[in-house]
Amino acid sequence: MDRRNFLKYSGLAGGALTLAGASTAGFMAGKNKDSHTGFGRAPYGKDQFFNRKPFLVEKPTYRVVGKPSRIQYLDHLFRRNSELRRYIFSGAGGDFQKVRNEGTEALPEPLKNYYEKNPSAFEEFFRAMDKAEEQRANWEKYKDKYMLAEAWSTAHASVLSGSGSFPQEPRESPEISDFEGVNSSRLKLKSPKHGSGLIKKITHSFGATLAGITAIKEEWVYQGSLRGAGRGDFKVPDHWKYAVVFAVPHEWESFYANPTYGTSYDAYTMLRFISSKVETFIKEIGYPARSHVPPTSYDLVLPPLGIDAGLGEQGRNGILITPELGANTRLAAVTTNMPLEPDKPVDLGILRFCNKCKICAEECPGKAISFEDSPGKEIRGFKRWSIDQDKCYTVWNSVATRRPSGCRICLAVCPYSRKNNWIHTVAREADPRDPTGITSSAMLAMQKNFFNYPGGDQYLPPPEGENKTYGNPPDWLITEEWFDF
Ligand code: SF4
Ligand code: SF4
Repeated sequence: MDRRNFLKYSGLAGGALTLAGASTAGFMAGKNKDSHTGFGRAPYGKDQFFNRKPFLVEKPTYRVVGKPSRIQYLDHLFRRNSELRRYIFSGAGGDFQKVRNEGTEALPEPLKNYYEKNPSAFEEFFRAMDKAEEQRANWEKYKDKYMLAEAWSTAHASVLSGSGSFPQEPRESPEISDFEGVNSSRLKLKSPKHGSGLIKKITHSFGATLAGITAIKEEWVYQGSLRGAGRGDFKVPDHWKYAVVFAVPHEWESFYANPTYGTSYDAYTMLRFISSKVETFIKEIGYPARSHVPPTSYDLVLPPLGIDAGLGEQGRNGILITPELGANTRLAAVTTNMPLEPDKPVDLGILRFCNKCKICAEECPGKAISFEDSPGKEIRGFKRWSIDQDKCYTVWNSVATRRPSGCRICLAVCPYSRKNNWIHTVAREADPRDPTGITSSAMLAMQKNFFNYPGGDQYLPPPEGENKTYGNPPDWLITEEWFDF
């Protein structure tokens, strides 16, 4: 497409977007749960699509042929085997071979009783142990070929191991803790490009909506504190060469509603699952790794890393805005020295759009966001819009729920925070390509005229506000839908 046609196309797109019909269509399309991005479909049962009604029956299809009884816990294979294993490896019954030779007679109760009734299960346990021994020997032979399958599966299991939260909080400096559990047999990657391709695919497979790679700049690493090492001025660890940065959205409807109807923890827990798995996977293929996850387990500032990794740009609200999730983007990262090829940053025109928009500043219940026409304040050597974090925190503590659940209004009202449907695809594709600014002006006019903004403190509970919502909360968060009170 030549430049003239391109401008024509952009102008047409901008014009089309001004139509009220388009606005209504966009609004309706946005309400459709099918347009949710990321894991947001699951809460609406969108994947449980099969209509079971025509197949409903009065009785389950299993056959009852006697008097049903309750199941004994030792009937469960894993529980029975764990109990037998514990007995063997505690040394209570002697060693493995001794327990095997002595048979069921020498077992403690209730194992003895169970295995005497089911002697084949006892024999089968030892046959399985023999197989496990063989498998370990085979693994040494074939491990190169199946290294990824092993790493992927161990990564998933990582959230089941240990105690407390996941990923495990580092207890030692990065030079020690990031290397704990690193597989000593590492294969040679074909190239850093292969490294990036693999890690991004794996990160998506663990549930991340977005994933990007960046080299780590010193200015994005916190000064004065390092997890596992304590307080002090630490230099950036040599092995923190790259960050794998990834993102998920909050569940869309609760996110749109108002601070009382949502929680940032829904995205945080997803990110923690993913991060634990990415960290474990990288260690399993032979490289050190450390997770940086919300709400506070970070050694890095994540939004600028997300910008460097090409996920999006920073908005007036201080949040990383991405084309897929808008400001509904929650971030985490894993640092490593695995050879990776960084992604390039993007210019989607978000900064220019924010210059004219200001919706987040108008809607912020705490008046914490700058109204300046363009980023005016120099913060640590960068020009950006300032956020008054302390005022913001007061809003978090003003919501109606017992546990302060944060705010997120500036994220929800942002015109970029839209789901994935055709009209937003047109806007998303047209605006960054439109040097005239017509598209963004049309989008903004639409946004301001057709969407209902309660305004500032109206989102808060009485007496300050009326607990108003920007979008309808999901019915599963409306108490009166389910309870009499
Ligand atoms: S989270 Fe709420 S209080 Fe904080 S800046 Fe955003 S809109 Fe304002
Ligand atoms: S609401 Fe408007 S000004 Fe605020 S971040 Fe979004 S686009 Fe920028």
